[in-house]
Amino acid sequence: MKRIGLLTSGGDAPGMNAAIRAVVRTALYFGMEVYGVERGYAGLIDDELVPMNMRSVSDIVHRGGTMLRTARCLELMEKEGQERAVATLRKRGIEGLVVIGGDGSFRGAKCLTENYGIPTIGIPGTIDNDLEYTDYTLGFDTAVNTCIEIINKLRDTMNSHERISVVEVMGRHCGDIALYTGITSGAEIIIVPEVPYNMDDVVMRINRSRASGKHSNIIVVAEGVMSADAFAKQLQNVTEYSVRSTCIGHIQRGGSPTMADRMLAAQFGNKAVRLLKDGIGNRVVGIRQNKIIDMDIIEAVSMKKTFNYELYETLQMISM
Ligand code: ATP
Repeated sequence: MKRIGLLTSGGDAPGMNAAIRAVVRTALYFGMEVYGVERGYAGLIDDELVPMNMRSVSDIVHRGGTMLRTARCLELMEKEGQERAVATLRKRGIEGLVVIGGDGSFRGAKCLTENYGIPTIGIPGTIDNDLEYTDYTLGFDTAVNTCIEIINKLRDTMNSHERISVVEVMGRHCGDIALYTGITSGAEIIIVPEVPYNMDDVVMRINRSRASGKHSNIIVVAEGVMSADAFAKQLQNVTEYSVRSTCIGHIQRGGSPTMADRMLAAQFGNKAVRLLKDGIGNRVVGIRQNKIIDMDIIEAVSMKKTFNYELYETLQMISM
């Protein structure tokens, strides 16, 4: 393969830039040409491509966001949009495509692969960690670290005023950000889409912790269950303690990627290009049990994400 394309799609995630850098540098190492596609699939349809060289990806390894920008693109779900995207690839002589994004972006790549024979490689770039085939997605570690940092600050003021802090984190269908944030920031309770909650139980846990001498409490709520505001209002009706709510929002999508995310980006980007170089397409890359793996894209997008109940129980046992 002599020339490949590269795009970022769906919601942005810290580490996408580091992955772009790894893809470009690996491709150049193997003597391949790389075109960066701006604004995800929308840029592919509209032929917004830029040739990338060694220096195009200088000074981005530490930056959040994506230098190629990203977009949601409904046109790619229609045949006409798909044909225009493929026409751009053919016109530019691009033989393979690397797609950095989440589940939806992989479905777009799968469609280009299945219906038009374009070899594609997916790199999991999403803060949600909602892909079953990989233990971690790019951006998840940074997002959780951002949530921890904010909760550290909230804890100071909640302690002073002996309050309960309800913190909303991202995750519409997947509670992983809430789960990992909860365990690592010492929250007493997490509310996630995968586990039904019971307000009597929440109040019992708070009262028990106060009786044992605790001065404040942290509750982490995944956005898919309800807003921090709505949860705080419900809780305030049934507790004597003062409740405050905070929504972390888009802050958790930005910021300099952590070591863990930069390392994943380097390995995912490198692996993606090595596969294309060997003429292998229609795969996604990931990490399982600390090993970089690749897997059939169709199989990967059909896997249903499972929740780690063991970690959930760990939180229940150690957060009191
Ligand atoms: P995140 O969940 O982190 O935001 P994502 O990649 O899942 O990332 P989506 O908005 O679901 O984000 O998808 C990104 C883009 O992928 C869509 O705007 C669309 O262009 C393309 N896409 C999604 N689903 C399909 C599909 N079934 N067929 C073709 N293209 C799709």
